[in-house]
This record gives sequence, structure tokens and C-alpha cells, in this order.
Amino acid sequence: METLAPFQEVIDEIQAAGGFDYRLCFQCGLCDVVCPWNKVRTFSMRRLIRESAFGLSEIEGEDIWRCTTCGRCPEQCPRGVNQIQVGVSLRRLASEYEIFPPSVRPARTARASLISEGNPLQGERKNRADWARDAQVRTFSEGMEALFFVGCYLSYDPRMKRVTVAIANILNKAGVDFGILGEKESCCGESIRKIGSEQVFKNLARENIKTFIDNGVHKIIVASPHCYHTFKNEYPEFMVNFEVVHITEYLLQLIREGRLEISKEHSGTVTYHDPCYLGRHNEIFDAPRDLLRMVPGLELKEMSEWGRESLCCGGGGGRIWMDTPQNERFSDIRLQQAREAGAQTLVTSCPYCITNFEESKLNLEYEGVLEIKDITEIIQDVVSL
Ligand code: SF4
Ligand code: SF4
Repeated sequence: METLAPFQEVIDEIQAAGGFDYRLCFQCGLCDVVCPWNKVRTFSMRRLIRESAFGLSEIEGEDIWRCTTCGRCPEQCPRGVNQIQVGVSLRRLASEYEIFPPSVRPARTARASLISEGNPLQGERKNRADWARDAQVRTFSEGMEALFFVGCYLSYDPRMKRVTVAIANILNKAGVDFGILGEKESCCGESIRKIGSEQVFKNLARENIKTFIDNGVHKIIVASPHCYHTFKNEYPEFMVNFEVVHITEYLLQLIREGRLEISKEHSGTVTYHDPCYLGRHNEIFDAPRDLLRMVPGLELKEMSEWGRESLCCGGGGGRIWMDTPQNERFSDIRLQQAREAGAQTLVTSCPYCITNFEESKLNLEYEGVLEIKDITEIIQDVVSL
């Protein structure tokens, strides 16, 4: 593979894009041991880091786009290298020169849609709240208890819209005074930042922050771990701090306060998949499990890789918008792990995970074998609406 422009010029560009951690790496290779890519093909983050140190990065290739930013390897590194940031800095370079291999080109379409319509799914901005026709939802106004920030997949994706309606139904049942922003809401920007389009991220973040401030938002309920991560850990870069609550934490609180009551059973064996951006990146491991354990008749079983060691679904780091050959999909492995655990239902709490799992369910012909559910769909079924 041809290299772009080796040596100092490239090293300087990688540093300018935030990838300076390559200097700490002593090439132990522990990152590669835990990387999920090595379950399906060879890929070496260690090698990418080594090449960065010499300005020899192959930014035309597929490898700089592989990292799903799952967060497994930063936890292992004895030198504290932020491998994700090194990877993102290489993508910034490629994005700047508009160099995208064929498998990554769908991400360019997503980026164009983010710029024109504020979402990556080519939905029209004016249709962002169409899902709410099937639910009782008000527009957010100052003084309400919380904003429900819906997010892109839950606004436009047909499968995910069922989850959005479930959330609205549950919040209404609990008497929560909440509202949505409708077409004033824009993508949180988490994934576009990870594929290196920093300016698009900044524009989306500023739009959302202005809307939050103009509308008097203080508390934000989110269903996507990607929105959660960005609002909690990245928006403070803009000198703002909103109270951000993931729906699993919020539902648990509503039940503990007696505002929501579980009154029905869900019989069957369930396993819970920790989304990378809820679990490893934000340490929310217990709330979803505590919720599931409250459901009478539900037997919770863990898969072989769970909690901090959960297997990535393959959708983070903008990979949800890229093409992955069928024999390289982590989500297929995850469904097989769910079956091995004896689960009838694979439950999770992330729109990217659900999207990948539903596709794997089709590919593996698991219809009637394994159900895929968002945790809110289970809770909707066991509270009396
Ligand atoms: S684990 Fe850290 S020090 Fe070891 S190869 Fe990976 S980045 Fe380098
Ligand atoms: S963050 Fe995850 S996908 Fe990316 S290199 Fe590390 S282990 Fe691999």
C-alpha cells in the first residue's frame, strides 16, 4: 500500500489532530490481545501506533477505519495510551484529504445528511418528530421536569421508533412532566467526531447547546449511550454542564420512588448486552441489570463476555455507517454467545446495538430462536399502561 507523505510532515499532522499519545507506546501488544477484531481477522492497533510514530501511516487503507472505539484496549494499556484518540487523529487526516476507501463511503453520505438535515439517516429535519404521532408527547418548555432528547435512530429508524414510543408511554405512565425538541433537535455528534469530522461535530454540538440554553433545559433524559457519552463527557468542552440521565437509570429511580410499578410478569430467559458507551465508557453496568431483576418471571443469565469485558456490537466509532463483510461482524458472534448462554431474548439499551443485532438475527436465521429487545420494551410490557 502506498503511503501518503511519510515522515515529519505527517507526524506533525497527527500531533495537530490530537494523536500525540503514540509517543508513550512501548509496543507490548496488549491492546491487540483484547481487540475484538482479532476474533474475525487480523488487525493491529499496536501497528497503527508504531506507524504514526514514524509518520508512515497508510491513511488510504481500511485499517485506520476499523477501530469501533469499544474502549477495551485503553483499559489494558500499561502506558496509558489513548489508542482511540490516535485512531481518530488518523481519520481526521483522511477526512481532511477526503480519502475514504469503498467500505467507508456510506459514512460520507451520513456526514452530508448531518450537515443538511441534522441526522445521519437522510431523514428530513421537519419529520424528526413524526414518531410522536403514535404517542402522547408535548414540545419541551421551560419549567418541565426533563427534556427527552430522542436522538437520530430513535427518531427516524422504523425498528427504533417502536422503542421511542415505548419510552414515551412509560414516562407518561409514571406522570413525568417531559417534552421533546422535535425539529429543533440535532444529532449529538458523537459518531461523526469519531470518524474525524471534527468541525461537523462542533457545529452540531453548538446548535444543540444553544437550543438547550434558549429553551431552559437543565435535565436531559437520553436512550442512546452515544448521546449520553457526548453530553456528559464532551459537551463540557464548550463550558456547559447539563444533568444527563440514561433511561435505564431514570426508570430505576422512578420505580424506587414508587412513581412506576411493575405489575406483570415476563417469563423467560434473558441475557443483557452492555453497550460499550454505556458500560465501559460510562460505568453503567448495574442499573439495567437491577431493572431486569425486578421483573417477576424473568431469569437473567450472563454471556461469556459481559460487564467490563462485554463484546462490542461493531457499531461504535462510526462503523454503524460503514460496510462490514458478513464474516467479520462482531454482532453475529454476540448472538451466538446469547444462544450459548441459553437466552431466549437478547436485551440491550443502545440503538446501534439493536440495529446490528436485528441484522445478525436475519443473517443467522434466528427468527423464532432469539428475540432482540431494548430494555424499555420489556419494561413497557410489565407496567400497566
Ligand atoms: S497496550 Fe499500550 S503500550 Fe502496549 S502496544 Fe498497545 S498502545 Fe502500545
Ligand atoms: S478501542 Fe476496541 S476496537 Fe478499537 S483498537 Fe481498541 S480494542 Fe480494538
